Amino acid sequence: MNRPTAAFTMGNVQPEPSSPIILAENLTKVYAAGRLQVTAVREVSLAVERGEFVAIVGPSGSGKSTLFYLLGGLTQATKGRVVIDGVDFASLSDGERTRLRKHRIGFVFQKFNLLPTLSAMGNIEIAWAVSGRKEPLDLKYLDHLCDLLSIQGRLEHRPSELSGGEQQRVAIARALITRPAIVLADEPTGNLDTKSSDAVLQMLLRSNRELGQTTLMITHNPEAAQIASRILHMRDGEIVHEETGSRAGVAFPASGAALPGPGAALPAANTVPAAV
Ligand code: ADP
Repeated sequence: MNRPTAAFTMGNVQPEPSSPIILAENLTKVYAAGRLQVTAVREVSLAVERGEFVAIVGPSGSGKSTLFYLLGGLTQATKGRVVIDGVDFASLSDGERTRLRKHRIGFVFQKFNLLPTLSAMGNIEIAWAVSGRKEPLDLKYLDHLCDLLSIQGRLEHRPSELSGGEQQRVAIARALITRPAIVLADEPTGNLDTKSSDAVLQMLLRSNRELGQTTLMITHNPEAAQIASRILHMRDGEIVHEETGSRAGVAFPASGAALPGPGAALPAANTVPAAV
């Protein structure tokens, strides 16, 4: 295995501010399915700039999830490379790759993946605990997040006592509590009705704008993708077309605000739909 060329230590990934935060070059993933080989992602190159909201849209089987797993360092490319914040995944050991993920990327999944025996609060707290940070959970920041996501008052409930939309918003809080620079969301509205979907999409957009994150969302739903500033269309493992989202910035005009420091006030969540 290649060894890191640049210093990489816990919590100290050295970013290159001028470079894209996500860079994929000639990414290819081939699965062996019995005696057959399936090329799920074929020579994909893309660059995502800091603060962008990018959606990757395409029909089932077009390679979206595989690309998501490659970009999140959850699976290894057959060919090509992924560079996150200036760090090439391939240059890292397994442990270093895990640490990079924990520190730089927040994941949101279609099925929420909340721990059923813990309360919403417990789910958020455990994400902080496993991130390996030494400092205590910033309760003021948690409070801001819960306001932003309209989940105040639901924190003592277990997932089974929450609606799908609420569960997904708790899952987003769990992803954001470590202040990741990148949020990767895989079909975040796939299990939700239209009203809950809209709320979750607006939460993702809002956290992108107000917390200064870079957001990359995978979806099979072309309508949901319209909220992104840039939409990449996938077909047969390739990005075949790019467009600007027609609803990009409609809900929340760009504030240009940087990531607030601990305790910093966020604007009131008055444009967020009521809890669904
Ligand atoms: P999407 O997320 O757009 O539905 P996927 O990335 O899941 O697409 O799948 C792309 C292609 O790769 C499909 O043909 C799928 O059957 C195939 N594929 C996905 N995962 C595997 C796997 N673990 N083994 C074999 N083939 C796979």
